[in-house]
Amino acid sequence: MTATTKLYEEDSYLRECSAEITDSQPGKIRLNQTILYAESGGQLPDHGAITLPNGDTFNVVDSQKAPGNPSAIWHTLENDQQIIPPQTPVTVTLDWERRYQLMRMHTAMHLLCACVTGSVTGGAVNIGRGRIDFNVPPDSINKEKLHAQLNALIEQNIPATPRWVSESELDNNPSLVRTMSVSPPRGAGRIRLLDIADTDLQPCGGTHVKHTGEIGALVVGKIENKGRQNRRVNIRFAE
Ligand SMILES: [Zn+2]
Repeated sequence: MTATTKLYEEDSYLRECSAEITDSQPGKIRLNQTILYAESGGQLPDHGAITLPNGDTFNVVDSQKAPGNPSAIWHTLENDQQIIPPQTPVTVTLDWERRYQLMRMHTAMHLLCACVTGSVTGGAVNIGRGRIDFNVPPDSINKEKLHAQLNALIEQNIPATPRWVSESELDNNPSLVRTMSVSPPRGAGRIRLLDIADTDLQPCGGTHVKHTGEIGALVVGKIENKGRQNRRVNIRFAE
């Protein structure tokens, strides 16, 4: 199965690209490259559309990594009977409004990791809201203090930059691994990191904004007890 080049890993602000269909099933296509994010790491999949050379346009309503082959991405079309033959060139467009909300919230999740000391046991990035589960003792998170800390990091408009490291670089720099709030996965050869300058560094394949100021003001919602050592912190956009 041919791999799909994930253009969003290099530039999460691309809203359109050209591509070629490499494989198709009724209502599904795979492309040689795409700007549409495949659901993973708690971030919802992108929506968008593809346009054929004859002008026909089909909405893309889901994007998922192929079972057993995460380097290949299937895009699901709204018309589930449509078959578009391989090698057809297409123009891919992104539902930018949806994605930008997800990018802002996803970046906010990294700031949340920077503010709470404790290991992460789960998380989700949704439209307008997100949550992270932290393995920390009861009552160890102060909601008002967290609210102030998060919004201060947003106001500082800190650069957030993706970069790649090889596994051998990690092996040679144990201090780099120690600074990460989540330990890096192994086996893929190279690992994508998100570096929020002097604030948070962790392995992540998601889409993020370039500066924390783009997130906009946040509200810390409920802090729920999910088991003896598990606190679920909910955040949402202030407006
Ligand atoms: Zn991320």
